[in-house]
Amino acid sequence: MSVKIAPFESTPTESIQSTVNLCRTTFRSQKTKPIEYRLTQLRKLFWGLQDNSKALVEACKRDLGKPSFETYLSEIDWCKNDIMFVTKNLAKWMKDEKAPDIPLSNSLLNPHIRKEPLGTVLVIGAYNFPIQLSIGPLIGAIAAGCTGILKPSELAPATAMVLKQVVEESLDPNAYAVVNGAIPETNALLNEKWDKIFYTGGATVGTIIAKKAAETLTPVCLELGGRNPAIVTKNADPRLAARRMLWGKVHNAGQVCISQNYIMVEKEILPAFIEQLKIAMAEFFPKGQKLSPDFARIVNNRHFHRIKKMVDDSKGKILIGGEMDESENFIEITVVQVNDTKDSMIVDESFGPLIPILAVDSVEEAIKNANEVHSTPLGLYAFGSKAETNKILNEVTSGGASINDAFFHGSIPTLAFGGVGDSGQGAYRGKASFETFTHRRSVTTTPGWMEKMLAVRYPPYGDAKLKQF
Ligand code: NAD
Repeated sequence: MSVKIAPFESTPTESIQSTVNLCRTTFRSQKTKPIEYRLTQLRKLFWGLQDNSKALVEACKRDLGKPSFETYLSEIDWCKNDIMFVTKNLAKWMKDEKAPDIPLSNSLLNPHIRKEPLGTVLVIGAYNFPIQLSIGPLIGAIAAGCTGILKPSELAPATAMVLKQVVEESLDPNAYAVVNGAIPETNALLNEKWDKIFYTGGATVGTIIAKKAAETLTPVCLELGGRNPAIVTKNADPRLAARRMLWGKVHNAGQVCISQNYIMVEKEILPAFIEQLKIAMAEFFPKGQKLSPDFARIVNNRHFHRIKKMVDDSKGKILIGGEMDESENFIEITVVQVNDTKDSMIVDESFGPLIPILAVDSVEEAIKNANEVHSTPLGLYAFGSKAETNKILNEVTSGGASINDAFFHGSIPTLAFGGVGDSGQGAYRGKASFETFTHRRSVTTTPGWMEKMLAVRYPPYGDAKLKQF
């Protein structure tokens, strides 16, 4: 049975203010604060995703040619697992925390931290994982007791419409809503006052969001782009490194923010690594990627041409792949040996199925290059001996890192995910999702009977009081 997906429709901008006001009024009503409310919303969201999973799979197929397996693995089940983890731990996370290491006299004030929801929040999602990157932060907002609005990416229009349906069917309509649209709708949202804006996407738009938020001192969480280095040393297992690095570009046709953007390989191991890439490619796609149901498409024609231009402008040599078909935004995994770090394939984030490889003489050279290309990438990948991978971890900063793998650290639901420097600020997933929408409010209560003891703090101070210092 085919699933019906409504054609993309932007939310009228004139309705946005009243939707935000409704969310804010609901927040102020205190309704969203009890744990029972939060758990109910999260469980309903779980079942909304479950009940609409066929439509979500179909929508991701239409938007990105995403294989069903990938939509279940890194979108639907991903969010369902996050919900299960959060619901299991929420009571523990919500508990007040006693101030640590306090002197006995201060303990009489019961100094503690209350976990307060920030308020009414805005979540702006990106197109590449249109479910995960929208619902993931929303899970954190609900868990924290916030109300809010989700603005999915208009570049994944079918998924945006199904997400609207999921939210409207599952969640309290007075507390949560989806606004669909592009720049005008996002600008209308940004003209409202928020208690936090959670944005996932490129740095250019991230800067627009951060500037706008700064006008009202609104806190932001920014999950930005990659340009992530991978390093394969001469002591790495070439087969293992090749298979895993290839997977890092196969998944969602490389449209993954934490996918490696380029690989630096020590010269001694380069021929074996390339040979193993060819073997792995034949194993993963015996009939080629174009005919395979297991390989996604580039999201749209603009991004197809952006990626194509990176290959056209490169001075490197294509070693594997290179086929492109504009009629279906297909780009084959393309392995190019480049000559230096100034190559178009290294300078920019491909956010697509390109594997530029740069031969290096040493681990030190690779580290120097990585730090010069981008001092604060989102991800870092290292294959080699323990000493080498430790050295790489120590000397190259990144938001997260996987040793002996492509972006696997990003799949652990209990591990905070986020960038550093210009790859982003703030983090989420698991407890971090709760924390990113929570204010840690310090509270003390001074008993009335302490008044005599506290008299020392009141003027007149006099010399006698001064003497104690
Ligand atoms: P996108 O096109 O989906 O845009 C992101 C959001 O910004 C959308 O909701 C869109 O409507 C909004 N937007 C676009 N232009 C705007 C404007 N002028 N003003 C206000 N809002 C606007 O995503 P993208 O930016 O093309 O995403 C690709 C980038 O995102 C890559 O750099 C990728 O690495 C990064 N990314 C990061 C993460 C992460 O978790 N760190 C995840 C996915 C993607």
